[in-house]
Amino acid sequence: MAGLIPITVAHGDGIGPEIMEATLFILKEAGARIEPQEVTIGEKLYLQGVTQGITQEAWDSIKSTKVFLKAPITTPQGGGYRSLNVTVREALGLYANVRPCLSYAPFVPTLHPSMNLVIVRENEEDLYSGIEYQQTKDVCESVKLISRQGCERIVRFAFEYARHCGRKKVTCMTKDNIMKKTDGLFHSIFDQLSRDYSDIVAEHWIVDIGAAKLAVQPENFDVVVLPNLYGDILSDVTAQLSGSVGISGAMNIGAEAAMFEAIHGSAPRHAGKNTANPSGLLQSAIYMLVYLGQIETANVVQNAWLKTLESGKHTKDIFRDGQSKAMLGTKEFARAVARHLGEAPASLKGADYRASFKPQRVVSEASAGVKQLNGVDVYFELAGNWQEFIARLQNINISGLRLTAVFNRGAQVWPQQLGAGDYINHWRCRFESNGSFASQDQILDLLNILHQHGYEFFKAENLFSFTA
Ligand code: NAD
Repeated sequence: MAGLIPITVAHGDGIGPEIMEATLFILKEAGARIEPQEVTIGEKLYLQGVTQGITQEAWDSIKSTKVFLKAPITTPQGGGYRSLNVTVREALGLYANVRPCLSYAPFVPTLHPSMNLVIVRENEEDLYSGIEYQQTKDVCESVKLISRQGCERIVRFAFEYARHCGRKKVTCMTKDNIMKKTDGLFHSIFDQLSRDYSDIVAEHWIVDIGAAKLAVQPENFDVVVLPNLYGDILSDVTAQLSGSVGISGAMNIGAEAAMFEAIHGSAPRHAGKNTANPSGLLQSAIYMLVYLGQIETANVVQNAWLKTLESGKHTKDIFRDGQSKAMLGTKEFARAVARHLGEAPASLKGADYRASFKPQRVVSEASAGVKQLNGVDVYFELAGNWQEFIARLQNINISGLRLTAVFNRGAQVWPQQLGAGDYINHWRCRFESNGSFASQDQILDLLNILHQHGYEFFKAENLFSFTA
């Protein structure tokens, strides 16, 4: 039919098919101008040995529609399977994960009746890069990657989004007292870019105390911008604080494409029981309508949903004796929302979507300045005595490249022994250049000599300093 916008739809796993069916039913009844192209992703494919959990046909559809409405999928735990959610976000460049969490009190019980905040989660970096190694029999490593470009895009997005929505404050949370380089970069970019937005209050909390404040007084927060992992955890917390993890939707936004999904997962224990709340996916579908410019339909659906909550027709997760009027199944809840289409809520604030928010493409220049090689950290698993090992390393000197420190799991062992002596077999030995710059050749010579001494390293990480 003319005027319909093609979108890609995946019904997902667990409760996914039920909540997607409910959501599409409401959208159809509301006259949303969409043309769903259905694709299969997730568990069925994983179980058939497709380790990425997605077929080429599904990719083709997503890449042509550039709009993906996705029900949750089950990610098999353990090795061999990459999270499809992470793959899709990375492949489509969906760098911003926007998760509004607000209260619908008194109709949805919550301890925080005035909370109304938006989590803006960075979506492509941090520990989600999936770069992990098993380094020794006993030690695994996960790489946390944070780039200046990634920080600039998400922080700029958070401020622009706040301005677009008339929000007054952006809070950043990091753990830069510990992760001085990675989280430190995120924090410093936040401080720097906040100066361009004098109309918006900017604040920063260390994530542990920030999370505690968020959990106790979410009403004090407005827009919260976070690196990937903290954003993932805290958006589940805030969704649950607003009444149920089942009522919050999310949009994953990039410069060219967008994916819309509920915050929650596939809740396999509830699958096939017609008890799941479709509201989170419905919310994300409403955000999709706004993104597609179907603002009026988005407002109509949102108002019908609010009216349904007000009328006390609730799914099991938000049903409360004495307060709710009827406990509805997933299907019945969807029919109730459809019956309320065209109505407005009496006491909850009605829908007020105006224009879609499309982020500007942020082009970050590569940093200028001088990069200087100062030395190398070499990592070992030892067969023999560690004191003897350190003594032998002290005698190595390659044109001024010398041992300056030895660490075990972060604790310094030499020249000062700061650890308690309860060491695991994971040694990091720092070699630094005495005075002048180090060279790649010196480092290769060093590694060769270590090898000749019978010490096998499992990793070498060059040490650089940068000047502007
Ligand atoms: P989950 O969010 O699926 O469920 C946790 C609990 O929250 C459920 O047991 C249920 O009590 C409640 N819940 C969640 N959604 C609900 C709804 N719509 N209505 C009512 N109650 C609801 O978290 P989990 O059990 O940790 O994860 C299950 C699977 O989902 C895992 O394989 C995980 O990897 C995957 N997952 C997928 C996504 C996604 O596709 N975007 C996101 C998170 C988790």
